[in-house]
Amino acid sequence: MRRIKIFDTTLRDGEQSPGIALRPDEKAEIARALELLGVDIVEAGFAASSPGDFQGVAAVVDSVTRATVASLARTTEGDIDAAAQALAGAPRSRIHVFIATSALHMERKLGLTPPQVLERISWAVAYAAEHADEVEFSAEDATRSDRAFLAGACREAIAAGATIVNLPDTVGFTTPVEYARMFDDLRERCPELGGVELSVHCHDDLGLAVANSLAGIEAGATQVECTVNGIGERAGNAALEEVVMALRVRSDHYDAETAVEPSMIRDASALVAELTGYAVQRNKPIVGANAFAHEAGIHQDGMLKDASTYQIIDPSELGVAMTLPLGKHSGRHAFTQACDASGRTLDRDEIDAAFRRFKQLADTGAPVSIDDVLQEVRA
Ligand code: MN
Repeated sequence: MRRIKIFDTTLRDGEQSPGIALRPDEKAEIARALELLGVDIVEAGFAASSPGDFQGVAAVVDSVTRATVASLARTTEGDIDAAAQALAGAPRSRIHVFIATSALHMERKLGLTPPQVLERISWAVAYAAEHADEVEFSAEDATRSDRAFLAGACREAIAAGATIVNLPDTVGFTTPVEYARMFDDLRERCPELGGVELSVHCHDDLGLAVANSLAGIEAGATQVECTVNGIGERAGNAALEEVVMALRVRSDHYDAETAVEPSMIRDASALVAELTGYAVQRNKPIVGANAFAHEAGIHQDGMLKDASTYQIIDPSELGVAMTLPLGKHSGRHAFTQACDASGRTLDRDEIDAAFRRFKQLADTGAPVSIDDVLQEVRA
């Protein structure tokens, strides 16, 4: 099985969500949870972006014992120096150098010509390589970049010493098939990519971040950049827990695994939600309150007979339990089981009456407790 590295960017891209500002001690606490979770690389921040973020990266360096720590940097001496200083003392340090390669970004945002961008890449990657254990190069807006130019940018970065090359879908624009073909195409245009770690980084603007990440992995990427709870710029990044569990549940298909420990996912998710103030939506896969809740009668009946009827993930792996909440869609089987679980012995007529009353109450949409129904029927 291929081993896929998890590059967690909760503390960098995740923190770029509007309204989130993590203190250094909070970054350190999340970094410790990420290490327990089993991520390979913690992107701690963007050291040059603010004095507070410099301290945040340094605090993460002090708190981890095993993980590689990364800091983002533009192709400037100041950014790379700040990243190197903040990363000093890390178990393994990685400077993550990025510059945009799409015509749109080069012309409109950077005001640089394509040859100037190539020069920047070459200089910055070589400079960063002198100041950290390893250098990752990201071609920002790769999915909207000219392929020949993008291949040339990758070649420059590798020649200058980058050992990890990331091809991000910065604006959540690509589709799974297109993204996979882009990896195939680039390896053909730039065979040097066969000698480095290839990485995916996807955004969720069209709800495709996880699907695109998995497509990139199928096309040969061995590092995936993601965030806990899928937080990040705009609609967010690929959710770590979804990528990890998709690879795990469908290992028959992907033939790939990560070092993430599923039983630690809930704790990491809860900590990130608490410290960022970004609550997890109920219907969020893996970590949402409803991820393993079955309310419909037909589903509840199936689950009581065999949990694999409606559940592809074993919730006990995540340290949680399947639930059968009672509501207007629930059926007799789950209702009867709930009566039994409440410790009362009811005869058939009593169950019939209680179930009828339960359905009447549940139809109003109000929360119905089984005890209330039983008390009413027995009275
Ligand atoms: Mn991003």
